[in-house]
Amino acid sequence: MILAKRVIVVGAGIIGGSIAWHLAKAGAEVTVIEAGEPGGVATRNSWAWINASWGNPETYFRLRIRSMAEWRRIDREVPGLEVSWCGGLTWDLPPEQLEAYAVEHIAWGYGIRRVDRAGALGIEPNIKQPPDFALHVAEEGKVEPLAAAKAFLTGAEAMGVTILRNSPAKWLEEKNGRITGACINDGVLHADEVVIAAGAGAATLLGSIGLSYDIGAPAGLLVHSKPAGEILHTLLQTPELHVRQTSEGRLVAGADFAGGDPADNPRGAAAALYKKVQDMVVGADQVELDFHTVGFKPTPGDGFPMIVRSQSREGLYIAVMHSGITLAPAVGLFATAELLEGKRDPLIAPYHPDRLLKVK
Ligand SMILES: Cc1cc2nc3c(=O)[nH]c(=O)nc-3n(C[C@H](O)[C@H](O)[C@H](O)COP(=O)(O)OP(=O)(O)OC[C@H]3O[C@@H](n4cnc5c(N)ncnc54)[C@H](O)[C@@H]3O)c2cc1C
Repeated sequence: MILAKRVIVVGAGIIGGSIAWHLAKAGAEVTVIEAGEPGGVATRNSWAWINASWGNPETYFRLRIRSMAEWRRIDREVPGLEVSWCGGLTWDLPPEQLEAYAVEHIAWGYGIRRVDRAGALGIEPNIKQPPDFALHVAEEGKVEPLAAAKAFLTGAEAMGVTILRNSPAKWLEEKNGRITGACINDGVLHADEVVIAAGAGAATLLGSIGLSYDIGAPAGLLVHSKPAGEILHTLLQTPELHVRQTSEGRLVAGADFAGGDPADNPRGAAAALYKKVQDMVVGADQVELDFHTVGFKPTPGDGFPMIVRSQSREGLYIAVMHSGITLAPAVGLFATAELLEGKRDPLIAPYHPDRLLKVK
């Protein structure tokens, strides 16, 4: 009889959730260790735009496109993900740069459509000052990030995954160059593989075995209105702010999708930002600001993901990234293939964490 591989996943955000779900589906024996309550730190405070938009090289674009396709697969398999393919309307670059983005990404196969003022208003009638030139990408989407992370974890639990809540991993156990487990309050849990999906907490945990990676955790401020009836149909990326509406009816906005700098006055920054939302969106002046959030974005030093079995230690897999909402389904799929079958998908080939190793 072949025994199932025992895997510990540290972190119950959207990345840990997706990896645990995919591993369980493939037959692994999985335990998720979470420092707090499931749902993540960055994940629950994310703008949660699923996209392969401007600013990235073609290799990374291809990974993102693949993950967008995997979102459509996973949406059929996991109940409660709350994915919506509402499309994105973008004019957050000067017109000549917007056009250069369109030319490049259309050549790569991205479904961009150029629209004028009337076209923009046709897609989103509630823009007070519509742009003369914008790009519409119907295949972009959004997800309610906390609901999605919880849906992955609920589905994983239904397949036998154990989730240990309020159980921070204090350090990793290492024997003869191999990671053999993780220490929590009750002692050391042992496994064949330990996956670090701990977001911004990954750096400290990896430090416990002497590995120092260049991982930042910049703050991102978003404002959330009170729930309202449907005002926006799509995701808007404008020069002033990025705004969308949640399934619950809240307008959620940031200086851009990744959230603005809260500086030393998050409340004041939130009020100023929400004023811009009200100035931009018809009907938003009737809707009050409810609260703001500040999320900490796990950000590898070069901005690209860290996804792979460590070359420095056996039994250790690292999955830390920004754009983790977009990437979660592909990361779960690819990490599982690598952990259980030793197969590494070419789309994640460039993203070896050891490129960011500072101290071994
Ligand atoms: C404001 C903002 C806007 C964003 N917008 C987008 C967007 O539009 N599109 C997009 O694709 N991405 C976006 N992102 C990025 C995306 O949200 C993150 O990349 C993603 O949520 C990371 O998920 P994660 O599971 O790796 O990390 P997290 O959600 O942070 O989860 C990590 C989990 O690990 C746990 N943990 C940490 N240390 C330990 C430990 N020692 N032991 C046990 N558990 C531990 C934490 O408690 C946490 O629950 C945004 C992020 C922010 C903050």
